[in-house]
Amino acid sequence: MIFNLRAVSLVVVIINSGVVAEESQDLSIFPSLTFDDVGQYAKKMSGCTSTAKAYKFMAEPGYLHEIKVIRANDAVKIASKCFRSMKKNEPPHSLEVSSSMANNSLSGRCSCVAGSGGYCHHVIGLLYYLALLKQLGHRTLPDDLTCTSMKQRWSVPRGKKIEAKQIQNVLVKKPQLGASFNKYIKSNLYSPSPIYGTMTKEHFNSLQPKPLFVTIVPSEQDLRSVSFVPSKFGNVPKGCLISYQQKMSADYLVNDFTCTAFPDLPLESANDRFQNNVSVCLEANQQALFDSLSVTSEISLRVQEETITQSLSETWRLLRKKRITASKFGTVARRVSNFENLVSQLNPARFVQTPAMKRGVELEPHAATVYANVAKNGRVNLFPSGLIINPKCPWLGCSPDRKVYDLDALGSDQNPFGLLEVKVVREGATSFDDVRYLTKDNTNQYSLKKSDIYYYQVQCQLGLTGLDWCDFFSYMNDDMFVCTRILFDPIFFQGAKDKVDIFFFNYYLS
Ligand SMILES: [Zn+2]
Repeated sequence: MIFNLRAVSLVVVIINSGVVAEESQDLSIFPSLTFDDVGQYAKKMSGCTSTAKAYKFMAEPGYLHEIKVIRANDAVKIASKCFRSMKKNEPPHSLEVSSSMANNSLSGRCSCVAGSGGYCHHVIGLLYYLALLKQLGHRTLPDDLTCTSMKQRWSVPRGKKIEAKQIQNVLVKKPQLGASFNKYIKSNLYSPSPIYGTMTKEHFNSLQPKPLFVTIVPSEQDLRSVSFVPSKFGNVPKGCLISYQQKMSADYLVNDFTCTAFPDLPLESANDRFQNNVSVCLEANQQALFDSLSVTSEISLRVQEETITQSLSETWRLLRKKRITASKFGTVARRVSNFENLVSQLNPARFVQTPAMKRGVELEPHAATVYANVAKNGRVNLFPSGLIINPKCPWLGCSPDRKVYDLDALGSDQNPFGLLEVKVVREGATSFDDVRYLTKDNTNQYSLKKSDIYYYQVQCQLGLTGLDWCDFFSYMNDDMFVCTRILFDPIFFQGAKDKVDIFFFNYYLS
């Protein structure tokens, strides 16, 4: 589901009959609808009053998706897709409900076998969903990800495909109406204690006869030559079962096991570090679009969790497209004219990845390891990050390369938690003198130019997350890199943000 931001609010499409229709997320043009109306509709269409199955479809997160409002000359239509119950590899059903302008009468249609007559569980499910949104007072269709605040877990595997999950993350619950969802069965195969010692032959000296496995356990003396690999429970000998059953994603790098979690972002303590100074009057369609961007703290955290694979994630791309993200922050803030063109420049119709960009993406994990183990001497932990949306200004967003826990900052007065931004220097470069965004002072120390978009990017990340520092790591090869710590500059960020906000509300949001 990829569409241009402008297309969301107002695109003119020609539908089959040749009638011109507008597509939007503006739910306010759909007439009011109650659960009772839906029950009446079901009864009228089929004489059937059992709508429990349809109700279940509505309540499943993501079951109905790609929902949009289409305004035609004579009716308001809501189009949607829904997953098939059984044949998950086949394309989803397309369905539509419409309300006639003349008399508000409802009709429906679905691509499933039962749906051609205007009645099937899918259509009724969509009607229930619309009734729910209407009753909650929504004026816009929420984004797929942010749409449901209804928690419900037994159908979690339902989706585009069933993802493999680690056994300890699987919760078994009873898929039954009214069952208690606090009670579930969970694997207790592993009991993670943060620190495990490694057993050696000497531990078994007192046992006679010795268990057979003792023959393959290293002696204390041999332990030094054993290579270790990280797992969720600490470093374990290479070849140990835990090293692959409980392996860490390559985006994690844990050197110190006293800190294996990062605080929730944005930090609550930093809520007042910037203001929203721009006020504008929005038109109805802009307001609808703007409303669809707003997130609660809870949803912000969920977005971070679900977008942690970043560019691999479809949601990440969709959510980014509607917002000004840190990588675009400088381009927008430094712009002085021709803002109309900037809108299309920020969202090109076609995304082209140059070989240089591809190389940067491929080398980033390695560069991050060099940062942690060479530049920082193994004194940091690295955590992956998803898209971070600050609920205070949900039209902005950022996806830092890594979140950093710095042991050495603990000793000083700095917050031990910060960020890492990795830039891979283009292929063939041999000196940092030629690198666009770096500048050298009279002691031959390189630092990031404050006028460069990368400086804007880092300040935007710090502003939105509430953290105080970001290590900017420019990587050429394993021996040549520049690592500078950039501190948050509230005045710089506020000035840039005001400019970005003006652009967003006057040009981008339309
Ligand atoms: Zn159907």
